Amino acid sequence: MKIVVLDGYTLNPGDLSWDRIKKHGDTVIYDHTPYDKTVERAKGAEIVFTNKTPLGEKELSQLDGLKYIGVLATGYNVVDIEAAKRRNIVVTNVPTYGTKSVAQMTFALILEMTQHVQRHSDAVHNGDWTNCRDFCFWNYPLIELDGKTMGIIGFGRIGQAVADLAEAFGMNVLAYDIYKSDQTGRKNFKWAELDEIFTQSDIVSLHCPLFPETKGIINRDNLKKMKKTAFLVNTSRGPLVVDEDLADALNNDVIAGAALDVLSVEPPKKDNPLLTAKNCIITPHIAWATKEARARLMDIAADNLEAFLAGKIINAVNM
Ligand code: NAD
Repeated sequence: MKIVVLDGYTLNPGDLSWDRIKKHGDTVIYDHTPYDKTVERAKGAEIVFTNKTPLGEKELSQLDGLKYIGVLATGYNVVDIEAAKRRNIVVTNVPTYGTKSVAQMTFALILEMTQHVQRHSDAVHNGDWTNCRDFCFWNYPLIELDGKTMGIIGFGRIGQAVADLAEAFGMNVLAYDIYKSDQTGRKNFKWAELDEIFTQSDIVSLHCPLFPETKGIINRDNLKKMKKTAFLVNTSRGPLVVDEDLADALNNDVIAGAALDVLSVEPPKKDNPLLTAKNCIITPHIAWATKEARARLMDIAADNLEAFLAGKIINAVNM
C-alpha cells in the first residue's frame, strides 16, 4: 500500500517519528508540496496525509485508488469533503491536541503586552541597566492582571482553558458563545453578549472558529466600543480580524495593543498593515506547535489511520 505525506515539515521538522504511519505501507514523506505537484506525488496512493496542501475536486478526480485522506490538523477546509465523499474517500481530522498549548500561548502574549519581559531584557543587554542611576527602570507601562476583565469570544475547549488561567491570575471572565455550556462552579465568571465583551473587557481574546458569521468580527465598529486601555489577542484564525481596521485602531490609540498569532493571509504579504502598526506583537502561528502538542497530533493521526485500516473509522469529517 502506498502512503504519501504531502507536507509533513511543520508537524515534524525532525524531532518526531513517522514510524507509526510508515509501518502501514510504502511511505513517501514530502516536507512541502507545491500546488502543481500534488497530483503527480499523490498518484497511486491509497492513503494521503495533508496539512495545508489543498485537495479539491480537480485533484481528487485524478487520484483513482485514493481511499483515505488524513488531515494533519483540526481545520479541514483544505479538502473538498463533499467531493471526497462522492468518491467514497474517508477524510479524518485531529479534533483536539493542543488546547493547553494554545491557552499557554494566549497568556504568553498577554504577559508580553502587560509585562514586556523580552523588551526589558533587551534593554538590559543593551546596557540601559548598567547606565541607570536607579536600582530599577521600566520603559513600558507594567500592568497587573489581578482584578482585570478578560472577555473571551468562543468558549469551547481553548476558551475554557484560557478562562482557567485567567481565573488563576485573579481576573474576572466574561464569555460569549452561541452555545452556553454549563459553567456552574466557575468563580468570577459571567456569560455576556458581544457588546458587553467589547465595552467591559480589559483584554479581548478570540477563541471561536472561523465561520462566515465570525469572519471580520474584529472590525472598526467593534474596536471603537473597546476601552482605550484594552488589548486584543488572536490565537484563533486571522480572518476574524479586519487587518486594516485593527491597524488603524492601533495607530490611532483606539485600543492599547494587540497580540496576534494568526493573520488573514499566512505567511503575510509584505504590505500587511499590521506588520508596521503600533503596539502590535505578531508571532508566526506557533500556538499549536509545542513539541508535546505536535507529538499528540502525530499519535492521533496514526490512531485515525489504524482505525480506518481496521474498519472502525474515527474522527471522520465526511461520513
Ligand atoms: P472548540 O470547537 O472546542 O470551541 C469553539 C467554540 O466556539 C465552541 O464553543 C463554539 O460553540 C463557539 N462558536 C461557534 N460559533 C461561534 C460564534 N459565531 N460566536 C461565538 N462562538 C462561537 O474549538 P477549540 O479547540 O477551542 O479551538 C478554537 C479555535 O482555535 C479553532 O477554531 C481554531 O481556529 C483555533 N486554533 C488555533 C491554533 C493556533 O495554533 N493558533 C491551534 C488550534 C486551534
